[in-house]
Amino acid sequence: MENIVLLGSTGSIGSSVIDVLRSYPSKFRLAGVSAHKNLPKLGKILREFTPELACLSGSPEENRDFISQFPSVEFVFGEDGLVSLAGLSSALTVVIGISGIAGLSPTLAAVKAGKRILSANKESIVAAGDIINSALSQAGLFIIPLDSEHNAIFNIYSRLETIFVKNISLTASGGPFLNKTITPGISMDEVLNHPVWEMGKTITVNSATLINKGFEVIEAHYLFHMDYERIKVLIHPQSLVHGIVETIDGTQFMACSPSDMRYPIALSLFYPEIPEQKFAPLDLNGRMFEFSKPDFEKFPLLKLSYEAGIEGGIMPAVLNAANETAVCSFLEGKIRFIDIPVIVRRVIDKYIAQNHTEGLTLEAILDKDREARIIAGELIAGGP
Ligand code: MG
Repeated sequence: MENIVLLGSTGSIGSSVIDVLRSYPSKFRLAGVSAHKNLPKLGKILREFTPELACLSGSPEENRDFISQFPSVEFVFGEDGLVSLAGLSSALTVVIGISGIAGLSPTLAAVKAGKRILSANKESIVAAGDIINSALSQAGLFIIPLDSEHNAIFNIYSRLETIFVKNISLTASGGPFLNKTITPGISMDEVLNHPVWEMGKTITVNSATLINKGFEVIEAHYLFHMDYERIKVLIHPQSLVHGIVETIDGTQFMACSPSDMRYPIALSLFYPEIPEQKFAPLDLNGRMFEFSKPDFEKFPLLKLSYEAGIEGGIMPAVLNAANETAVCSFLEGKIRFIDIPVIVRRVIDKYIAQNHTEGLTLEAILDKDREARIIAGELIAGGP
């Protein structure tokens, strides 16, 4: 039995991970979990899997009634709790299913503790890719990405010799506005109606603006140590081919599986082995696959992501912070969908002159993250 720690057990990724663990009961044991707010769901997980350690947001006092129901579980709290969970000595593997910059310190803690790391936390790789990479190379570790596109590419790329790889392509469904005009009057329902994947609200908005793909380009740059001109985006509305690796001879290796996160999660938990199939298969009979280039004019945040990525330094962190603030305001009904790229561009423009790539520290990145959120908030309050 392999002990697993799961950060973000009640979220969208966490639920898929739980389902995979349930599907291979003799292989994995859930040793530690964290949850943010969904205590009823966490309660069910604690009863079913009986982990030894659980991390909650908030204080012990706020959670007293909940904690008292589980006398055999040790509870830890907040960011410090996540860090101790990521270093849980009995666990070999840490799965990072939490979203946002909150995933950064537990990721670094897992690296420090020498864990096998499976991560779906794109924000921390985007914001602090250089810092995570230097910690990984010091520890002689690598991250197995859970994001479906990176997972597909990882599963091809890691089995090939690096020198034979010419470039990679991340596929994108194109989101709800692929074949629709983006107008000022677009409603929240239209934005949240993603054609393929069921995900959290923030990432669904990010898929509609295509900045999610932009973040994935930056993520790929750090995960695969690859220059931006070798990382391409292809619109593929069927979302069945998740990633493509082109070798120097011109052959393109594509990884194709159902739009079901349990596939990349199971592959990653078993990596480098391949698990026996447990989930509904994909029948290719009668399927049509389309690929096209993204429209960088219509989706300016995709273009801006490449620019911020190439700039490097603090810019990816600023991009992420500005976007998260703008998306949050959109979800609160404070700004329109079309205002999101305008706000993000304006914040990026404020930072471009003070960007630096040398001697970048974690503190500097977290500092810029906080500052960019304040600046974005001010721009939003002042009217776009
Ligand atoms: Mg993805």
